[in-house]
Amino acid sequence: MRIMLIGPPGGGKGTQAKKLAATYHIPQISTGDILREAVSNETKLGVQAKKYLDAGELVPDSVMLNLIRETLHSEKCQAGFILDGFPRTIPQAEGLDELLEELNMHLNYVIALEVEDNVILDRLTSRRCCRNCGAIYNLHNNRPEVPGVCDKCGGELYQRDDDKPETIKNRLEVYREQTQPLLEYYRKKDLLNTIDGNQHIQSVWNDIQSVVNSGSLTSA
Ligand code: AMP
Repeated sequence: MRIMLIGPPGGGKGTQAKKLAATYHIPQISTGDILREAVSNETKLGVQAKKYLDAGELVPDSVMLNLIRETLHSEKCQAGFILDGFPRTIPQAEGLDELLEELNMHLNYVIALEVEDNVILDRLTSRRCCRNCGAIYNLHNNRPEVPGVCDKCGGELYQRDDDKPETIKNRLEVYREQTQPLLEYYRKKDLLNTIDGNQHIQSVWNDIQSVVNSGSLTSA
């Protein structure tokens, strides 16, 4: 199964992608996670990407397309994958179409999470991530049992640099301008399923499962 999640920063893509990965035993391909790891390991990709991540800007399409080409060719993606955070621009989506054709693959579902700006702002400023396993928490409604410590692995929880208010505003503008046009792109291909991402995690998950189990969302 090949699923794509589209949504604004803080829209819940990462949280839902992890649930999909665990349920359907397919890898979560989070380009944001891959880039953050590259930055922290100071690889060539990380050095290239750092200034864009710090500013809440998008990493150039050519860099992202090379990264996704390498990833989708890898063994772990042959039985399916969940794209979380890719594509983010129309040229990325077009490049992905070419790549999928070359690999003789197609997407099964494109799922867009629609979330209001005030909900996004609240979620991003209260989001904490585990440095070790990447688990995601929210200080209001999905708190770790022990403050600052991951329930799953005991790792240290931290606030992403780009979850600070100065960068959030830019990330939202970038989303509206460059990523939102993808909804129309996939609607025209008849692949788009839209879900109300303002809901609580479990309700969003129920809607995603309705899409995946029935081929389309019957009630929203
Ligand atoms: P995320 O964790 O998905 O919010 O991504 C964090 C940051 O990584 C973004 O703000 C961008 O700087 C960069 N990034 C992630 N995915 C992409 C992509 N598909 N295209 C360009 N930049 C990306």
